[in-house]
Amino acid sequence: MHRVSLFGPALIVIAPIFAQGPAPAPLVVHQLKPNVYWIEGGGGNSGVIIGDKGVVVVDAKTTAAQGKELLDDIAKITPKPVTTVIETHSDGDHVNGLAAFPAGITIIAHENNKKEQDAAMSAGGRGAPPAGHLPTQIISKNKDDLKIEGVKVQVLHWAPAHTSGDLVVFLPDEKIVFTGDIFSTQPDALIHLEKNGSSEGWVTTGQGTAALDADQFVPGHGDLQSKAAIQKKAADVAAKRAKIKDLVAQGKSLEEIKTAVGDPPPAQGKGGGRGGGGFASFTDVVYQELTKKPG
Ligand SMILES: [Zn+2]
Repeated sequence: MHRVSLFGPALIVIAPIFAQGPAPAPLVVHQLKPNVYWIEGGGGNSGVIIGDKGVVVVDAKTTAAQGKELLDDIAKITPKPVTTVIETHSDGDHVNGLAAFPAGITIIAHENNKKEQDAAMSAGGRGAPPAGHLPTQIISKNKDDLKIEGVKVQVLHWAPAHTSGDLVVFLPDEKIVFTGDIFSTQPDALIHLEKNGSSEGWVTTGQGTAALDADQFVPGHGDLQSKAAIQKKAADVAAKRAKIKDLVAQGKSLEEIKTAVGDPPPAQGKGGGRGGGGFASFTDVVYQELTKKPG
């Protein structure tokens, strides 16, 4: 109501209907342990770990408004301040909500994630990460045992997989894993070749994640997963990649391979993708990797 006098009639009529569409669904808070939650909606799933004196967040939603909603939800759980964010990778639906986070917090990311964000910042435009909230603590080891706010947190990187700078976040005491987009709602692995992701690296990463001593796996998108479900997906993707590799070695065409591995036919109309948000399918990615001419 106050907006009428503040912004005038044009904005209140046009902005809600045409620019923003219907109000987004609120975030949903799920509790995993007394001190650990995951928060769904607004882009990628987020993890919330309540430590001794502060809160550690894994991934920060897509927009500043969603980042603020995430902070508001955390404030309903605990009066402790958010001091640390761990980024599972550089995609905007996991990072850009940091714009709403306080200045001066610690932002942990893999070194290649930082490089991707630096490159996106230089390129500017819509893909740029939130200035003032770039990573401040860089992980360059493949396995780093951290203690943050009194909580044991292991961050793991096996190889470029979804992107070149993935981190899997493991809480060994709570037996919880935040996988980032290594695992999501898609039946196949989602690999961003433009961020130097790799299907071979995905297989290593997927199997490594599945072998962790955990029983609750929060994927980058979608519902909480059991260890058995994570193991099955890692095995299924590895088997599919091996089959595609065989077929490429036999000289089959991309279309023949897609039929042989049971990919759905291209959707009618624009794109011809398979509902993956316009991203290349797993079969496309593996075929491109294996048929790429050197140099
Ligand atoms: Zn992603």
